[in-house]
Amino acid sequence: MKRRVSILGATGSIGQNTIDLIARDPDAYDVVALTGAGNIEQLAADAKNLRADIAVTADESRLDELRHALRGSDVVAAAGQNALIEAACRPADWVMSAIVGAAGLAPGLRALEQGVTLALANKESLVCAGHLILKTAKACDARILPVDSEHSAVFQALVGEDMDAVERVIITASGGAFRDWPLERLADATLEQASSHPNWDMGQRITIDSASMFNKAMELIETREYFGVRPDQIEVLVHPESMIHAMVGFRDGALMAHVGPPDMRHAIGYALHWPERQSLPVERLDLARIATLSFRAPDEVRWPALRLAREVMERGGLAGAVFNAAKETALDGFIAGQIGFLRMGEIVEDVLNTMDPSHIDAAMTLDNVAHADQMARQAARRVIEQ
Ligand code: NDP
Repeated sequence: MKRRVSILGATGSIGQNTIDLIARDPDAYDVVALTGAGNIEQLAADAKNLRADIAVTADESRLDELRHALRGSDVVAAAGQNALIEAACRPADWVMSAIVGAAGLAPGLRALEQGVTLALANKESLVCAGHLILKTAKACDARILPVDSEHSAVFQALVGEDMDAVERVIITASGGAFRDWPLERLADATLEQASSHPNWDMGQRITIDSASMFNKAMELIETREYFGVRPDQIEVLVHPESMIHAMVGFRDGALMAHVGPPDMRHAIGYALHWPERQSLPVERLDLARIATLSFRAPDEVRWPALRLAREVMERGGLAGAVFNAAKETALDGFIAGQIGFLRMGEIVEDVLNTMDPSHIDAAMTLDNVAHADQMARQAARRVIEQ
């Protein structure tokens, strides 16, 4: 029987890698919904090729354009937030959650409510509302499979293991574009320089977040949520080659490392075929040729985001939603040329320190998360405009 699949964020880097895998075996899948935002041409082309039931753009003003691009096919065109949610709720077996940012939270949550298997790339969902996401999955008999390479690696290293035997989880970080830059040059780092990753080919926002280490900071929180380990059990290790994605340390001293090429199709394919392992079109590593793998401790002066993530975990409540929203707004400011690279960390810290505690201490509902998100964005914008 064909598996019914939907891809939220189909036009992005993760979405396109997912489509690459699905398109290699079209007879195995019924594509239900594909969603995007600004890239109408790509969305329509993929929806037609994969014979999706529906294609949705989050941008309401682009509906006519999407309809036009889909003419001559049976694919239904839709646009706007409600259409996005409706697409996420369509019956499916497997849904890829790969919208970027907090915008991915509600569609992913709605998909979980339908009892699907959710391949979760949108780390912001767990950072902003981890407890709500996990609680919903449990209540709706849905399953979440990690797609972030580090969390997929931990998940794989834990197969057949007892969580009580886990001492620590180590997630690796390439160090991003500015790993080896002198600290005094960072303030002048340009958008172009921050948008180029040494190893991974990813969307622009996550690439910049890798340079600032906000990506790894979010992954620290994501690790805590996924695997239920304490913050002091999670370590970040700088590993410039990006071959080892994560390691799990057990109480007998063993370290189980997941090694693979920096290609997201591995983690996506693992989530797509889980619990089986199917052949995937990724490079097979020649370790003799690679010869050396290197590691170093992260420098929290260079990357204050890591310290901030630990403070967020300590604070609990909706601090993650505030942290993420402030980070997204600061990132918008950097991309727009309004602030320098180092200001992003300062703005996030400022918003976390000055946020009215009632927003952070509110119960974790979708509405309260959205409210805390909005408050944090406003606060971050005020700091940017000062
Ligand atoms: P991209 O920026 O490449 O793609 C984002 C996707 O979201 C696109 O389909 C985009 O549409 C859509 N989108 C953008 N804004 C909105 C919105 N407001 N509402 C609905 N849809 C929207 O991101 P990535 O693929 O790099 O990342 C996606 C998620 O996966 C992120 O959470 C990221 O942290 C995570 N992730 C990514 C990895 C990677 O290798 N890229 C690795 C691990 C995790 P359009 O392009 O049409 O505008």
